[in-house]
Amino acid sequence: MTTTLLTYAGPADREALVTRTGGVPLAPAGTAWPMCADCEGPMQFLAQFLLDGPARPTARADGPDGPDGSAGLVMALFMCQTDPGMCEAWSPTDGANALRLYPAEGLTPIPAPAAESEEMLFLGEANAVDLAESPLDDYGSAREEWAGVDGRSLRHVLGQLGGRPLWLQADETPSCGSCDRHMDLVAQLEEGPNHATAMNFGGNGTAYAFVCGPCGEGAFLWQC
Ligand SMILES: [Zn+2]
Ligand SMILES: [Zn+2]
Repeated sequence: MTTTLLTYAGPADREALVTRTGGVPLAPAGTAWPMCADCEGPMQFLAQFLLDGPARPTARADGPDGPDGSAGLVMALFMCQTDPGMCEAWSPTDGANALRLYPAEGLTPIPAPAAESEEMLFLGEANAVDLAESPLDDYGSAREEWAGVDGRSLRHVLGQLGGRPLWLQADETPSCGSCDRHMDLVAQLEEGPNHATAMNFGGNGTAYAFVCGPCGEGAFLWQC
């Protein structure tokens, strides 16, 4: 098995229908901005991924159409940053983060709710993503080799698409609430290339987005 790395490709258009970190979330018209179940504040938008279908990331970083010309899905990730450290944003079940799946057609930016600061809602920059195939089958080795060969910073590896999760702590693969099967990893996500605009996974943490394709359910969590 190979590993598909997500690598930093410079600034992204904040509203583009591409796989990116940061920027503005796209969703069907009328979608409400996700709110934290703990503090009831609006969550921070982290990233969106284009998927061929549930749990099937597209083989490229841009273009909304799936391989058969179908529109595919967008997976959007959110996390509470109202008072970082207070709400259990790391938890797959606490309601302080959100993984949403939207059909990738007719999407529009979700209107931003009132918030005390821009930082509560948005990361400081939007990053475009390239995909890099590695022949290595474990993410940890693949990212180190990529950085070594290309002479780039390890921080330019933004994560992986699919594959096997590299756990920093114990294996926390979520089970689907509907069918009870283990969910599939859609993406593992690093904090980002720049400390000033990084996602807050506890400091050098890493996050995991899982989906049960048949049921259309997802779960997001992070470890550090
Ligand atoms: Zn909260
Ligand atoms: Zn299921």
